[in-house]
Amino acid sequence: MQKKRTIIISNRLPVRIEKRANELHFIPSEGGLATGLGSYYKTGSNIWVGWPGYIPENESEVQLIRTELAKLNLIPVFLSAEDLEGYYEGFSNEILWPICHYRLSYAVFDKSYWLAYQKVNQHFCDIILAQNITSKDELWVHDYQLMLLPQLLRQQRSDLTIGYFQHIPFPADEIFRCIPWRNELLKGLLGADLIAFHTYHDAQHFLNSCLNILGLSPKNNSVRCRDRRVHVEVFPMGIDFDKFEELSRSNVVLNKVQVLKEQYQKRKLILSIDRLDYSKGILERLMAYESLLQQYPELRNKVVLYMLVVPSRDNVAQYKLLRDEIDRMVGHINAVYGSDDWTPITYFYNSLPIEDLSALYVAADICLVTSLRDGMNLVCKEYIASKAQDHNGVLILSEFAGAAKELPETIQVNPNAIEDIMQAIPLAIYMPKMERQQRMRANVAMVKKFNITHWVKLFFNRLHEVKTEQKTSA
Ligand code: UDP
Repeated sequence: MQKKRTIIISNRLPVRIEKRANELHFIPSEGGLATGLGSYYKTGSNIWVGWPGYIPENESEVQLIRTELAKLNLIPVFLSAEDLEGYYEGFSNEILWPICHYRLSYAVFDKSYWLAYQKVNQHFCDIILAQNITSKDELWVHDYQLMLLPQLLRQQRSDLTIGYFQHIPFPADEIFRCIPWRNELLKGLLGADLIAFHTYHDAQHFLNSCLNILGLSPKNNSVRCRDRRVHVEVFPMGIDFDKFEELSRSNVVLNKVQVLKEQYQKRKLILSIDRLDYSKGILERLMAYESLLQQYPELRNKVVLYMLVVPSRDNVAQYKLLRDEIDRMVGHINAVYGSDDWTPITYFYNSLPIEDLSALYVAADICLVTSLRDGMNLVCKEYIASKAQDHNGVLILSEFAGAAKELPETIQVNPNAIEDIMQAIPLAIYMPKMERQQRMRANVAMVKKFNITHWVKLFFNRLHEVKTEQKTSA
């Protein structure tokens, strides 16, 4: 008799393929999701299905990738450049991403994107069903690139157990209904048994969309779809707390912290780390920092904003414009307020190894997160985990980041109110040590308890319960 298997499905596999000197290299991802799910997909005959992040040049590369990935319990979904352009760059990133982050005017409702999105979701479905799936197996679909997949699977296999998690926000129904294919997307998700989001508001927005767009009335956080009750619930994602806590007291990181301390001396280090994206509120943060230097001249030469922006999609017009504007504002602030021995902003446009990120988290007196919308925001949780030793740091956090709901002991700001962000900085700088540590201690306890392993366990337990309830009430 075949045992129950766990099938994880996401747009990207937790591996990176690089071609060097005509040879393919397989580099496992160290991301939080891969860590949290590691104990599931790596054991027994469990698998993870997704795009390997590489377009093979010939059939022998296809075979080699299949064989090598199979050793890691990974099943590749190969996509062509054209598929990626329409499904990923197009529908996912030019329609769903802006809509879910409340940027209606950035959405490009191109029919060809929709056709590619349908085609690729179907392709995922075919590959999954070719894996000898049984009704005992549990499938967990991740994120907005695969919103149609739960229903595509359900149509062919009504017996399956399917969970879905959305890592980005779900917008208010008045925004979501602007998408020409809103009905199909909602029905796509309703193929799952359990649909999960980071926050209460995301879940409510989804239920409101079911009601106002599809006419399905919610009852106790669930909606009835023919013979099934689909549950819509909240599971705020955690991080690999132990990894960041252990790094923060490792010698390699502490040496790097020492270098940073010598470099910045007694100045207060304000840290921001994000991908280049219009949802992150980077320009608003720079405006607030300039106001601070204007309105609190006594803080000049006493603070440094260390801003790391990780490159992302800067071949797309909106992202390139954002990058240019960041360059301009950083240049302006450094030129106007800087002096011989002080540069107000240290700015890097690249990504850093995890030891360097950890050293920045440990060294920073303040972490400044000003997302205009953010599904969760993991950077702020990584900062907190890195403060588990001395609790010496203050987090200024946008109220529009999913993490804000879980971390009330932070200074929360409306990122559209430049004045609010600006005022929060001296509040953080002058916060008495006792209060600072008390608050950070509470934040650390939260991030430690609700870590990534806990999150995965809760989700699977609930998926199992939901399916059992369905069977007993059928
Ligand atoms: N990060 C990274 N390299 C860097 C800077 C950041 O891998 O040079 C990671 C960071 O540790 C965090 C993730 O990128 O885990 C960003 O996640 P978040 O939820 O904050 O934002 P997202 O980019 O997913 O919107």
